[in-house]
Amino acid sequence: MDWSLQDCAFSGHVTYAPAEPGVRRQLRAQAGSGEAWRCLRCGTYVPGEPKASGPAADAPAVRRGKEVRSAIILRLFAIERFLRALAVGALSFVVWRFEYARESIEQAFNRERPELRSLFHQLGYNIDKSKLVGLFNRALTLSPTTIKLLATGLALYAAIEIVEGIGLWVAKRWGEYFAMVATSVGLPFEIYDLARKFSALGLILFGVNLLLVLYLVITKRLFGVRGGKRAYEARLRSESIMDAAISAASAAGRGADGPGAPGGPGQAAFHGAAIRPGQAAAPGAAGQGEQAAPGADPADGTGARAAARADGGSGRTAR
Ligand SMILES: [Zn+2]
Repeated sequence: MDWSLQDCAFSGHVTYAPAEPGVRRQLRAQAGSGEAWRCLRCGTYVPGEPKASGPAADAPAVRRGKEVRSAIILRLFAIERFLRALAVGALSFVVWRFEYARESIEQAFNRERPELRSLFHQLGYNIDKSKLVGLFNRALTLSPTTIKLLATGLALYAAIEIVEGIGLWVAKRWGEYFAMVATSVGLPFEIYDLARKFSALGLILFGVNLLLVLYLVITKRLFGVRGGKRAYEARLRSESIMDAAISAASAAGRGADGPGAPGGPGQAAFHGAAIRPGQAAAPGAAGQGEQAAPGADPADGTGARAAARADGGSGRTAR
């Protein structure tokens, strides 16, 4: 499945006209009477005006291929986090309210208990042996401080789940770290809880948490796993159409026709970039360009961007 195309079908192509003539040539094509611009996500040439323009360094960093799929998976996890927050938040609210209404609840329960007992007795159910009533009776014996602490703890847990959810939804590095660390901290407690008292729901919730931690560490290369952040961002760069165009432009700039040489931006020159490669054109060209770029003509504007990339490229994260 081509995830880039799926995303373009869903949210439209991303075309961008870089200000640098050399890079511009890499992304522009003449389509009949009009012009066409290469989509930075799926790689197709889209007829018409570019959606945006400006220096190549300011081009939107789009997610491509596997990154699109990864963002969808993270959003599924985010939804699960929001549902957890909702359930735990509601529970916290109920516990909190319980403390304030404790006396009236207790009175009402004791008043209705005989009727409830006979009602459930007819259904073949002994409420005095019911777990829920047992829990309820135990709750009545808890001190107000314990109940407030319990409510606060639950509210705090709900808040953490909300932050995790937001972090995973926006797919930022901080969010991935936060979700991974917060979820890992809970894992030992979940194992302890499962060992003490097994439940299917507990096992499912534990499974989701374990899966999330493993998924984040392995695919996002957290804590230096599989080369860490450098390797992760290098992979993003190697897949970036804009970065490939910049490399191709600086490679072409070293040739006979320098940047801004005769020919001009009007002519569609593909410079070796395939019309619709799907993947970034010439992955090897990226590395070559990085070395060549510092010496490239500053008029082409690629030098600054390549320099920014050379120091780790921390500024470029997928949006
Ligand atoms: Zn597209």
